[in-house]
Amino acid sequence: MRKFARTISGVTPLAVMTMPMSCPGQCLYCPTYPDAPQSYTPESPAVLRARRCDYDAGQQVELRLRIFTEMGHPTDKIELIIMGGTFLAQPVDYQYKFIKDCYDGLNGVASATLEEARKINETAAHRCTGLCIETRPDWCGQAEIERMLEFGATRVELGVQTLDDDIYRLVRRGHGVEEVVRATALLREHGFKVYYHWMPGLPGSTPEKDLSLSQTLFTDERFKPDGLKLYPTMVVEGTELEKWYREGRYQPYDNETMVNLVIGIKSIVPGYVRISRVLRDIPSKFIVAGLKDSLRDIVREKMKQDAIECHCIRCREYGHRARAGWEIGQPHMVRMDYDASDGKEIFLSFEDERETLFGLLRLRIQSRPVPALGKSENAVSAIVRELHVFGPEVPLSEQLSGAAQHKGLGKALFREAERIALDEFQSDRMIVLSGTGAKEYYRTEFDYLSQGDYMVKTLRPQA
Ligand code: SF4
Ligand SMILES: [Zn+2]
Repeated sequence: MRKFARTISGVTPLAVMTMPMSCPGQCLYCPTYPDAPQSYTPESPAVLRARRCDYDAGQQVELRLRIFTEMGHPTDKIELIIMGGTFLAQPVDYQYKFIKDCYDGLNGVASATLEEARKINETAAHRCTGLCIETRPDWCGQAEIERMLEFGATRVELGVQTLDDDIYRLVRRGHGVEEVVRATALLREHGFKVYYHWMPGLPGSTPEKDLSLSQTLFTDERFKPDGLKLYPTMVVEGTELEKWYREGRYQPYDNETMVNLVIGIKSIVPGYVRISRVLRDIPSKFIVAGLKDSLRDIVREKMKQDAIECHCIRCREYGHRARAGWEIGQPHMVRMDYDASDGKEIFLSFEDERETLFGLLRLRIQSRPVPALGKSENAVSAIVRELHVFGPEVPLSEQLSGAAQHKGLGKALFREAERIALDEFQSDRMIVLSGTGAKEYYRTEFDYLSQGDYMVKTLRPQA
């Protein structure tokens, strides 16, 4: 078996799609086709791939692994992304089987139970170091959270779209701002990374309102997501929104307005946020109105022209910048503290003088105990929600002395997080919500032990 490189960098995302099933939502902009999962169109590449495997999870994983290998991508650390409708609202037995099949696909052997499949994956050749599930804020209560912990999920993408109850009503979203607040807090308290899907241009909004709601995302401590996926509203064939458009009740923003809005949002995003994608994967033949082309290039060009910078994680990642020919400097540790969902978030990173990001760690300090683990002695919980070092998947620059240095950064971030938890908050233990396939890393490198769905270590003052 190939030796597992003891680093948490170089993670390859692998998307797996669930069977088409109806979703409890009735959002009027949502594509609904009988031969594609809700919110996807039949010819989206991910749907075509899934159909070739008859939506079998294990086969999809095996097929992707084969393709990645052929393309020369690393496959030892995988982030599984579960796509398609509202997975957590599908029959529970189906959910367990689907996730077990994903792990079986990675392991190359069939297990009797999900638990067994996860255990095997801890030391498998293809390790699931992260697992992401998309859900609606009203399908993200305690029962769903516990199920996601059993699945080994580490990141949740919430379909938030806006933060305005009138707009939610108008688009028949079926939930309000309150559910967003509750789901965000629950996820964070349990150690998950929280990404929001965000839809500028919904009916009932205006560019000014969208920008001001985007500001609220990062000034109101009830929100402050770790990541954002921007999905400018499009009129997709066959949707209720198409009827509205044809009847003149809805008009999407023109391209220039949407481009300026996206730039406006990018320019206010704080450095702890990752903007991971702009525009949904919908073939243009299904788009009746709204932006058809990928915004990314137009936005990038215009930002360059106007000398506007995006400070999000993705735009500052070492790999992207090295590839774009940036001069890379020496990393030093940076700390950013902010309040969110009744707790303190500490964002530690290694950056050079131009803010190029080499690695990051999200530490959360909260007074509420993590339910599965109970109270710690001093009633403070310290949770690491993310540790990520950007690195060797791209060639290292000459200024750095090689992969070992990157590996050292992850350790330094982790040690600093432990120091902060113990010295500044007198926390007697550290909790990590780790992907199944990263558990061994915490065990061997940092002496953490499995406790329930978490990795835990007792922190003791140095003599
Ligand atoms: S919740 Fe998502 S998948 Fe369900 S109808 Fe709304 S947009 Fe579509
Ligand atoms: Zn960015």
